[in-house]
Amino acid sequence: MSPRGWAVLTLAGLTVALVVAAVVLIPWQRPPAPRADQLAALGDLPAEQVARSREFRSALRPAGWAAIAIGLLVALALGLTPLGGRLVELAGRPFGGHWAAQAVVGGLAVVLVADLVTLPFAAWRQSVLTRYGLSTNGWSGWTVDLLKSYAVSAVIGAVALLGFYTVIRLSPRWWWAFGAAGAATLVVLLSFVLPVLVEPVFNRFTPMEQGPLRTQLVEMAARDGVPVRDVLVADASRRTRAVNAYVSGLGPTRRVVVYDTLLREATPAEVTAVVAHELGHAKDRDVAVGTLTGALGAAAAVVALYLLGSSGPLLRLAGVDSVAQPRAFPLLVALVTVAGLVSAPAQALMSRRVEARADAHALALTGDPAAFEAMQRRLAGINLADPDPPRWEYLYSATHPSTVERMAAARAHAREAGR
Ligand SMILES: [Zn+2]
Repeated sequence: MSPRGWAVLTLAGLTVALVVAAVVLIPWQRPPAPRADQLAALGDLPAEQVARSREFRSALRPAGWAAIAIGLLVALALGLTPLGGRLVELAGRPFGGHWAAQAVVGGLAVVLVADLVTLPFAAWRQSVLTRYGLSTNGWSGWTVDLLKSYAVSAVIGAVALLGFYTVIRLSPRWWWAFGAAGAATLVVLLSFVLPVLVEPVFNRFTPMEQGPLRTQLVEMAARDGVPVRDVLVADASRRTRAVNAYVSGLGPTRRVVVYDTLLREATPAEVTAVVAHELGHAKDRDVAVGTLTGALGAAAAVVALYLLGSSGPLLRLAGVDSVAQPRAFPLLVALVTVAGLVSAPAQALMSRRVEARADAHALALTGDPAAFEAMQRRLAGINLADPDPPRWEYLYSATHPSTVERMAAARAHAREAGR
């Protein structure tokens, strides 16, 4: 069989594996959050708060959608015309057009151009956040964060680009197989490494202060049977007023992180509800599952790019002979951009299901639906979340159930428990 035949077979296998993983590992059964409860919850929220968060979300919307549209247009303009290839050539010229320079400098230049055109929209977003009092870091802090994230992406991108095009040179016929394995390995590696190496670039993490709250949280984790070594506090307040918590990392790098803003704004019972939700992610191994599906997806993407990229019409549009040339990198970026936009609703749906399961876990673990609901109200109030967002926006991009869904889940749980 030809390499192309093997690639088709591999892609089929990876697709089946992804579908099976999604079917088996995503909690498709929806925990109860009756619409009647949702509407009652919405009615219980202060009308003024709901109006203000809707106004805020409307103010953010144009910048968000414009960034997506312009980002897509530029990716297509660079990838489906010879323009992107020329940019790669130009970037490699000071280095004598060496393939490695084209791969790394050219590749980063393409990504940078795509980032720079959406920069005005990111600034627009920041100005809205500032106007509504959510952002606390000012323009200098915002710029520093932006430069840091460019630097981090450039380092990871340079390693990935150099590795990718080295493999192509070493194995011109089978690079897609090594590339797929490499991409999957990179995803797994980043899951371990990001919390330890990259998160500290943006925030300082300190163990939660000793005291009754910490004792209670550690005891709850032990009762839950989840090996969480420590609860860390991030100094998010230097950037935002928003409150949040998350779990990241795998094995020895796994950690539960709460924002210092959360500790400042919420009651201990509410913080406990948030951490119980994060313990749910840890217990159900959501980070591991996300990493596994991410690795499978990355491998499938490399094989799909190899197959799609050998299509004559696409190569002609991009003005290149082969997808294996660094000059074809903009074509790959265009394809990945389109795939990302098309798959966003499916990714959001799976995320919402996983989040709803973590909510159910928190309700069962704390047995305190009142605190859970109070926490949701506070979260929405401070973060200016639309408690019941427009349906189309929810379906396209919501990674979490809406505030009224989460409040309704708490009410349904309270009814069940009271029986
Ligand atoms: Zn969560």
